[in-house]
Amino acid sequence: MDGDSVVVVGAGLAGLVAARRLATAGADVTVVERRSTVGGRVRTENRDGFTLDRGFQVLFTAYPAVRRELDLDALDLRFFRPGAVIARPGSRSVLSDPLRDVRAAGASLRNSEVTLSDKFRTLLLRQHVGTRTESEIFRASDRSIRSYLREWGFSEDYVDNFVAPFYGGITLDRSLSTSKRVFEYTFKALSEGRIAVPAAGMGAVPEQLADRARDAGASIRLDERVTSIDDGVGEDRGDDSVRGRDGGVAVETEAGTIAADAVVVATDPKEAHRLTGIDSIPREARSCVTQYYRLPEESVPRTGRKLLLNAGDPSPNTVVPISEVAPEYAPDGSALLNATFLGETALDRDADALAEETRLTLEAWYPERDFSALEPVRTHRIEFAQFAQPPGLHETLPGVRAAGGATYLAGDYTAWSSIQGALRSGREAARAVERDR
Ligand SMILES: Cc1cc2nc3c(=O)[nH]c(=O)nc-3n(C[C@H](O)[C@H](O)[C@H](O)COP(=O)(O)OP(=O)(O)OC[C@H]3O[C@@H](n4cnc5c(N)ncnc54)[C@H](O)[C@@H]3O)c2cc1C
Repeated sequence: MDGDSVVVVGAGLAGLVAARRLATAGADVTVVERRSTVGGRVRTENRDGFTLDRGFQVLFTAYPAVRRELDLDALDLRFFRPGAVIARPGSRSVLSDPLRDVRAAGASLRNSEVTLSDKFRTLLLRQHVGTRTESEIFRASDRSIRSYLREWGFSEDYVDNFVAPFYGGITLDRSLSTSKRVFEYTFKALSEGRIAVPAAGMGAVPEQLADRARDAGASIRLDERVTSIDDGVGEDRGDDSVRGRDGGVAVETEAGTIAADAVVVATDPKEAHRLTGIDSIPREARSCVTQYYRLPEESVPRTGRKLLLNAGDPSPNTVVPISEVAPEYAPDGSALLNATFLGETALDRDADALAEETRLTLEAWYPERDFSALEPVRTHRIEFAQFAQPPGLHETLPGVRAAGGATYLAGDYTAWSSIQGALRSGREAARAVERDR
């Protein structure tokens, strides 16, 4: 690898991991990112003393790639408690993992929303997924989460009132039509680890990866969009003299041409398709809107650092008193909550109407409390949060070498739509470049 030049297109999680690994292996690495900040779909905005992740998302500490690529201590994590609060008008009940959250075990075991047989099946399912690896789970036969849970014999009430809002929140698909592989793997991760956010916001994750990539020698160019890639594969579209050694690639950006020995396309899936023309790159979006609210600290409901799941109604799907989990997310005297609305239709809804829906929902869940002071701080409308993952999709995704020649792919779209998938793909793409050089 020594001295080989590699351009990485995109400074999301996948691109940053690829950049660090390639630079560590001795390559001369340039990351080109079209935005003014790194992180791609994992970014944080600071506004009026509030820390606002761009869409509610969390880190699963059991993900192997999270443990491998990140210094979790340095991220100063703030942890959720296992489980959630199942909320509906006039009632709230705690569902936890009695094996891991001793404080909530009693409430959880007494929870009448969930039958004894559902609790027992949950333990059996946990044993079933516990012994299986990521590749075993993603290679197994597939069906939707809903039909998988039916086969396991879970009651419809459990599926609709707990699984739909909880895993619907993870897959951004409350209908549970997503591949059961995503359910199995995230269920396994939840059983084996915790969910958390860094004290400084989720954006601290890519910031740390970017620091590590720079320390390894990579340079990161921001505010520069890659417009096309000429790798000389197929129709010869360019002049060989602008490519790197042995043909290599010419990466066209808005600022000019970069000649390199190899390029790693670590953009979002739609842009990766545009740049490479590879049709197996998934482009169907899962969308969501996350809205943030401030409340006086004394007015905020305490959930014991758990998410609130909307059992009765899909809108909003979840409400999270995030500053209870991470007090650093709100300035003194204020609390910060977020609500997430799933699906494309939420994208066009008026911010005031969304805020009113959240206020009415909270008033119905907590009739004894006053939410008149709930004030929207920011609305994040995220058209492409994840790609849709229907059953059977994963075996159709392109591998990191699918483009051929000196062009490599990295990004969640080569694995599965998650932080784990993105981090893992960055490592796999870097390995492929190293092995081929
Ligand atoms: C609201 C939301 C909630 C989520 N929840 C979770 C969760 O709880 N847990 C989980 O594991 N995952 C979650 N995800 C998914 C996870 O964030 C993504 O799968 C992951 O971040 C994808 O990383 P990536 O590096 O593959 O792509 P991206 O993050 O999309 O990075 C691609 C980068 O390429 C840049 N780029 C694009 N085109 C060009 C170009 N032409 N030139 C230069 N640069 C370009 C982009 O600006 C971007 O920085 C969530 C995502 C969102 C948005």
